[in-house]
Amino acid sequence: AKPTIAFIGLGNMGAPMAENLLKAGYPLSVYDLSAEATARLQQAGASVATSPKEAASNANVVISMLPAGKHVHSVYLGENGSDGLLAELPKGTLVIDSSTIAAADARLVADAATGLGIDFLDAPVSGGTGGAIAGSLTFIVGGSADAFAKAEPILAVMGKNIFHAGEHGAGQVAKICNNMLLGILMAGTAEAINLGVKNGLDAKVLSDIMLQSSGRNWTLEVYNPYPQVLENVPSSKGYKGGFMSKLMQKDLNLAMQTAKDTAVETPMGAKATELYDDHARENGDKDFSSIMGRHDHSVLS
Ligand code: NAD
Repeated sequence: AKPTIAFIGLGNMGAPMAENLLKAGYPLSVYDLSAEATARLQQAGASVATSPKEAASNANVVISMLPAGKHVHSVYLGENGSDGLLAELPKGTLVIDSSTIAAADARLVADAATGLGIDFLDAPVSGGTGGAIAGSLTFIVGGSADAFAKAEPILAVMGKNIFHAGEHGAGQVAKICNNMLLGILMAGTAEAINLGVKNGLDAKVLSDIMLQSSGRNWTLEVYNPYPQVLENVPSSKGYKGGFMSKLMQKDLNLAMQTAKDTAVETPMGAKATELYDDHARENGDKDFSSIMGRHDHSVLS
């Protein structure tokens, strides 16, 4: 029989990931603070719990997809560090946290889990909400080889490429390197499109040209920040859904903290962080491609 899974955090990413587990036949119990989020999963066939503990009561595996380190800390470790979900789980439970958080926070939870005989993996993802819906995410996993082997068939339901990056925290380090580059690429792509538009070019014509030229990158190809260049992306839907600017801001600041702690120079990352810190002040809940609006205010209205 398939293991029973508890899924905690059903936002832009967690909801479609959980739906794919249901479709693959995994018994699923879900929890989120938002009733709207749990209603969607209930409709899809999940059983809805009213606490993380209740969600995990019959589970062999716990998966979480929460906004930031403080939420992961509070769910697993609780307010005083030892009264969270970990303390309630039987030995041998596999815990997979797919949130993007600081490597140090992931190691903290991993150490607490290990002390209780629980397998913990940091398993942040890349691929956006499109990848979450399609089940084609990239998982970047840190933790023991044994736990990785147990997790792999489950992650394969939600993702296409599953990497074992190294020990606890390694998944998070790889993820923030990727997202620092993504922030730089998105800010740069928006800047380039704006320069063309302000000089009389059509945004779609310019994007098509750059897609077949050396400026080609993921943001141009599948996530164009200019409205109506691509269908079904956040920029063509009022920058709703997707990956919120405040989450990109979080990831860039995680990268800057890591760079600082290890005395590594990241001048482009620092500039992208400055841009997103400023942008997220008023547009934190909009998708991160709304950085386009820094240049061309009309796209935000
Ligand atoms: P989101 O804000 O849409 O979803 C987070 C969900 O967690 C919300 O439904 C919220 O109600 C719930 N939540 C918060 N605290 C909780 C708690 N204590 N208990 C239970 N539920 C709680 O965020 P998202 O876009 O789904 O992102 C989740 C994580 O994945 C973030 O770390 C983000 O950086 C990362 N990520 C996002 C994307 C993307 O494209 N959106 C891509 C890759 C990685």
